[in-house]
This record gives sequence, structure tokens and C-alpha cells, in this order.
Amino acid sequence: MQGICLLGATGSIGQSTLDIIALHPDKFTLISASANESVDKMADICRRFTPQRVVMGSEKARDELAQQCQGLAISFEWGEGALESIAADSAVDQVMAAIMGFAGLKPTLAGIRAGKRTLLANKESLVTAGKLFMDEVARHHVTLLPIDSEHNAIYQSLPQTSLGAHKQDVSKIILTASGGPFRTWSLEEMSSVTPAQACKHPNWSMGQKISIDSATLMNKGLELIEACWLFDVTPSEVDVVVHPESIIHSMVSYRDGSVLAQMGNPDMKIPIAYGMSWPNRVETSVAPLSLIDIARLNFESPDLVRFPNLKLAADAWFAGGSAMAVLNAANEVAVAAFLNRQIGFLDIARVNEKVLMAADIVAVNALEEVFEADESARRLALGMISRGDFL
Ligand code: NAD
Ligand code: MG
Repeated sequence: MQGICLLGATGSIGQSTLDIIALHPDKFTLISASANESVDKMADICRRFTPQRVVMGSEKARDELAQQCQGLAISFEWGEGALESIAADSAVDQVMAAIMGFAGLKPTLAGIRAGKRTLLANKESLVTAGKLFMDEVARHHVTLLPIDSEHNAIYQSLPQTSLGAHKQDVSKIILTASGGPFRTWSLEEMSSVTPAQACKHPNWSMGQKISIDSATLMNKGLELIEACWLFDVTPSEVDVVVHPESIIHSMVSYRDGSVLAQMGNPDMKIPIAYGMSWPNRVETSVAPLSLIDIARLNFESPDLVRFPNLKLAADAWFAGGSAMAVLNAANEVAVAAFLNRQIGFLDIARVNEKVLMAADIVAVNALEEVFEADESARRLALGMISRGDFL
């Protein structure tokens, strides 16, 4: 029986993780769960799974939850310290890191430092802390399993000894991208899209922030950096290929000309179940892939003129140090501003570029430096947005 700590239980990845736990009560048990504000959703989770400990983002949310769940033998907690504590709890075998954004970094690291098997959905934590994150994984001999569907596909397509092994045989990583809802739209058409249009992804149902990132291709940029850290490569060794059907989730090209791919219907339950049951496999209830029904798979190059975020991510990687934390912070602020209708869709990449150019990029040798870079980049981005100074 594997005890699961589910960070970000009320989100899209959280929900799919709960579905897998519910399908296999003989294999997995929910030990603890967290959410920021969604009290009603968390109350449902508490009634269905009775975890031992639940952490909310504020005292108010904790109190409301405790009120709704009277009579259940659950410890209701709140705040950052409690979040780190549930990830490191001795009853936990696996931590599903599914908090949205940079906020997931500290609790994810707490689980890693406690040696927990880490299922990484929260790409922003690896993108921002990069080398420091991977050093902690190595120091604590942690099994790190990528849940992002592309990285999960790459992981499945690499030799299974360990991440980065047999590197000499791999010639390229081929990272696939759906292209998002505006793949075929002109810049002119994209200039006036609404948050609702941008959140409507053609193939995947996801949280708001990652849906916007998919529409701007920032998600692919973050994933490019994520792949570089996970698989010990540089952006020059990763080809991004737009594949609108999202059936091939990514590929690995070997020096003998072989290309291995992982395919499946676009449903996050597949990579989640893979991470939870690795090195075995379990049923997921996802419909079997019907290639006859799909009939055709298409591929094209990404357009860096209409989607500059992808290039910004590669720039940030090559700039190194704090650049990736800076870009991520700018993007989190810009996406929130777009969702609040303070800026337009195309302004997201403009803010990102301006902040990346304006910020001091420094070497990062300690986690505090990542937090400082994040904070000052957020301040820069907020200032630019409030002054309209990003055009
Ligand atoms: P979501 O918005 O649906 O859910 C986010 C979860 O994090 C919620 O439980 C929320 O309460 C919690 N949360 C948000 N802000 C928080 C904060 N400041 N402190 C503590 N908790 C907070 O997001 P999602 O789509 O489930 O994505 C979660 C993570 O997984 C993201 O990093 C995303 O990039 C990654 N991911 C998601 C998908 C997907 O299909 N949804 C695919 C690949 C990777
Ligand atoms: Mg992905």
C-alpha cells in the first residue's frame, strides 16, 4: 500500500490523481491533501477519502473546512509550514506535487528532502530552482517521476536505468506541442482574444494558468527548460514539434536512427498512474487508443514570431542563473493580469520579454537567491503592467 500526499488536491491534476486512488484502493491510500482556497471541493475530498491531515492556504479556509467536516477524524491545518510538514510526514511514500506555480517549490522540496518518491506535475518548481532542485533529488536518492505528459513520455522512451543514463545513445529529444487553441490564428486575430477563449484548450482539460500558458506556448517554453533539467540536455538537443492531435506525447531519437514515442489518448490519468505505479502499470479507465478513428497525425514547426515565449524560454536557459526564475515570475504575474483583463493576450509575451531584459540576472547558489529573483521580477512585472510600460 502506497501512502500519498496530494499537494494541490482540488486542481485538475489533483482530481485525476484522486480518480486513480479511487480505482485502486488496494494499492493507494490518501494520507494527506492540500488546497489553497477551495473549501467546498476539499470538503468533498475529506468525506470521500478521510485523509489523516489536510492543509489549506489560510486560517479562514481551514476553519470553514473544519466546520463543514465536523465528525471526521482529520487534522485540519493551514499555511506554508504545515504544507511542508505533510510532504515530509513519515506515513507518506509518494508526494504528488500538483500545486500551481512557484508556490509549489517549498513543499515539493520538503518531500524531496524527506526522501519521498516525487511525482512532479508542478513544472514551475523545477524550472525556477533548476540545478538546486536536481541536486536535492540526487542528494536524497529520490525517485523523481515526471507527470507532465511530454516528460513522462520521454521518461518512458529513454532507457529505464535512471534519468540521464545512456546519454551517449540519445541524439535528440522531440518535445511535442499541441499548438494550443490559437495555433492557426494570425497576430491580429490573437490581439483581442478573451481569457475564456484562451482557456479552451482543444485536447486537454486543465487549470486556468497552464491553459493560458498552452495558448501562448509559454507552457512549451517551461517544458523545454523542464526537459533540460530532468534529462541533462540543453535546448540545442531538444526539438519542439507541433502535433495538433496530442496523441504522441513526445519522443526520443537515438543515434542509430531509432525514434521511440509514447502514445495515448490525451488524459493526464495515464502519466499520473504511471508515476504512482512505476515500475509497474495499473488500469486507468482511459479509453483505449483507436488509431483507425484518429486516422491521421500531423506535425509542423512552431512559429516563434507569433509565439515568442518559446524562444524566451530558450534564451533564459542559456542566460542561466536566475533568468529562469525571472521569466517564470514575469509570466505568472502577466497571466494573472490577463485573466483579470488588465492586459491583452499578446501582452503576456511582451511583459515576459521586458522583465527578462530589465532584471539583473545573477548566479544562484542557494534557494534564497531563487526567492529573491522571483520577488524582484514580480515587482518589475507588476510595475510595468500598472504603468502600461511593456509595449
Ligand atoms: P489547477 O489550477 O487546476 O490546481 C492548482 C492546485 O494548486 C489547486 O488545488 C489549488 O488550490 C492549489 N494552489 C494554487 N495556488 C496555490 C498556492 N499559492 N498555495 C498552495 N496551493 C495552491 O492546476 P492544474 O492544472 O492541476 O496544474 C497543477 C500543476 O500541474 C501546474 O504546475 C501545472 O503546470 C502542472 N501540470 C498540469 C497539467 C494538467 O493537465 N492540468 C499537465 C501537466 C502539468
Ligand atoms: Mg505538458
